[in-house]
Amino acid sequence: MAPSIPAGGRPSPVPAPAPASAATAASVGGPAAGLQAIREDLGDCQRCKLAGGRKTIVFGQGHPQARLMFVGEAPGADEDEQGLAFVGRAGQLLTKIIEAIGLTREDVYICNVLKCRPPQNRNPETDEILSCQPFLERQIETIRPTVLVGLGKFAAQWLLKTAEPITRLRGRLGDYAAAGPGGPIKVMATYHPAYLLRNPGAKKDVWEDMKVVRELLKE
Ligand code: URA
Repeated sequence: MAPSIPAGGRPSPVPAPAPASAATAASVGGPAAGLQAIREDLGDCQRCKLAGGRKTIVFGQGHPQARLMFVGEAPGADEDEQGLAFVGRAGQLLTKIIEAIGLTREDVYICNVLKCRPPQNRNPETDEILSCQPFLERQIETIRPTVLVGLGKFAAQWLLKTAEPITRLRGRLGDYAAAGPGGPIKVMATYHPAYLLRNPGAKKDVWEDMKVVRELLKE
C-alpha cells in the first residue's frame, strides 16, 4: 500500500456495526454467546492432521455483530504463537486495508478457512478444509455480516464454492448461501495481503474492491 490503500487521503467512514447491547449474548444467547459455543464445540480439535503440528487454534476474533467479515487462508507462525488471526506482516497490511475504509479491527470479524497452521505454511488440503468447514459455516451464520471478504484463492473459492482462479474471481461480487433466515450474504473476493506484500502493484486492485465493500456497507 503506498503508503496506505487509498490513493488520496482517508475516505469518509462507513457506519460502525451496531454495538452489542449488554442484554445480548450472555443473557439471551446472542452472537457473542453463539461464537463462544462454537469455540467450545471445537474444543482441543483433533479432527485433522494439522492438530499435531499446531501450537494454538486460531478461532478468529472481532465484533460478534460485525457487518464486515474477513476470511483468510490459514494461520501463519505469528498467528500460531498468539492464537489470533492476521497478526503478522500480512495482518498489519490487513489493518491498513480495514482502516482505509474508515473501520477498525474491532469493528470487523477476522478468521480463516483453516484454524490451525499448516506445516511450513503449505497450502490447505481438502480434508483439512472440510474438517474446519462446519465451524466456519457456523461462525458466518452466527455473525451474519452484510459483506464477506475472501482474502486470496482459498478463502474466495471456499466462500463462492468455485474452483475459478483468484485472478478471475477478484473484484467480482458473489453470494455466500448462508443457512437460516436472511438470504445470501454478499462476497467480495480480493487478493490476499501476503500476495500484496510480494506484489505491491496489486494494492490498487484491492483498493478498488474495498471501495465497493464500503458502498455495500452504506446500504
Ligand atoms: N495469512 C492468513 O491467511 N491468515 C492469517 O491469519 C495470517 C496470514
